[in-house]
Amino acid sequence: MTTDPLAAGYDWSSAGFSTRAIHAGQEADATTGAVVPPIYQVSTYKQDGVGGLRGGYEYSRSANPTRTALEEALAAAEGGAAGFAFASGLAAEDTLLRAVLRPGDHVVVPDDAYGGTYRLVARVFGPWGIEHTPAHLSDPGAVLAAIQPGRTKVVWVETPTNPLLGIADIAELAAHARSAGALLVVDNTFATPYLQNPIALGADVVVHSTTKYVGGHSDVVGGALVVADGAQLPVGLEGPTGTTNVADAVRFHQNASGAVAGPFDAWLTLRGLRTLAVRMDRHVANATRVAQFLVEHDAVTHVIYPGLEQHPGHEVAARQMRGFGGMVSFRTGSEASALAVCGATQVFTLAESLGGVESLIEHPHRMTHGSVAGTALEVPDDLVRISVGIEDVDDLLADLDQALAAGRTA
Ligand SMILES: *Cc1c(COP(=O)(O)O)cnc(C)c1O
Repeated sequence: MTTDPLAAGYDWSSAGFSTRAIHAGQEADATTGAVVPPIYQVSTYKQDGVGGLRGGYEYSRSANPTRTALEEALAAAEGGAAGFAFASGLAAEDTLLRAVLRPGDHVVVPDDAYGGTYRLVARVFGPWGIEHTPAHLSDPGAVLAAIQPGRTKVVWVETPTNPLLGIADIAELAAHARSAGALLVVDNTFATPYLQNPIALGADVVVHSTTKYVGGHSDVVGGALVVADGAQLPVGLEGPTGTTNVADAVRFHQNASGAVAGPFDAWLTLRGLRTLAVRMDRHVANATRVAQFLVEHDAVTHVIYPGLEQHPGHEVAARQMRGFGGMVSFRTGSEASALAVCGATQVFTLAESLGGVESLIEHPHRMTHGSVAGTALEVPDDLVRISVGIEDVDDLLADLDQALAAGRTA
């Protein structure tokens, strides 16, 4: 894009997280000095003679300056070599899997994967000849047992998982994937690049639903891939451009399939990314208070939050995360009481999705995870998942208290 020649030489990669999130890919516009990358709401670009592209821009499926700004900022935020922005998280996942898998390949997926990821792998890629095995990722031995050497080309990791907030040891799983010649892919949506950097722990590719914390305001759907420097395709696979680089293959597929983020969506997502650090600090602080409150509440039978010492993944999470995130799940002992709690909150909004500034509550069994009922991924029917927002925490605690009282009489 049009970069500021004075700023172009600055190496943002050595700067702190917030400095990168606010500046990488976002130099002032060279023509106008606009301090924020403009919304380039445009499909095509004037050429200075045939093939004379200005800044490499030709057609906005291939590249668009607003999207480039977001892609560079995301790559810098995750410490990766290349970022790619898509129309949704699932579009990002679909593009990645098509770039790195071929019929006959096998994928290891989390046994409590995001429902849409599981549906994509099982019901879209399954008929195209991709097999999968669900594994309990917090048990590295189970992942090792699920890997089929020579056939497994991707080990898909979520940590924390959704909605059971299981923790996987990224560095250990990366080592297992590498020795099997498979890629380690980490869906970092729940943790965010502020709290966890999978590439530094050995992951080859990071996936985001930027719809969630990165966008952060429940006003845009988007997805992203960030590829580690030098990441190579699974052993034996040559990419469509003749190289074995994952980034080259993803770039080809992003353009060839075309599920790109539009300029306005890219702009909104980048606006969210700039404040990610301050929002996450508040999400974590509020979630910590909420989890403690629920632990002490007698209408709650289990509280699941990686920040609690009794959480089985607490030590691994403390090692690989800078904070324990904004998601909390809990059980009420019966489906009826869980449904009643979900229906009784006034500050928490009953809705799917997560990661926005406003607090959300949902019943995974009937809502987000309805599509996996009856599979290995089925979740308990008395489970409630909350996305703790950045409101005043005392209002959140009071709201949960009155909703739990309503649940008790259900
Ligand atoms: C929402 C979500 C996705 C899918 O992203 P979309 O933007 O909804 O397509 C993938 N993984 C996780 C963990 C999610 O929460």
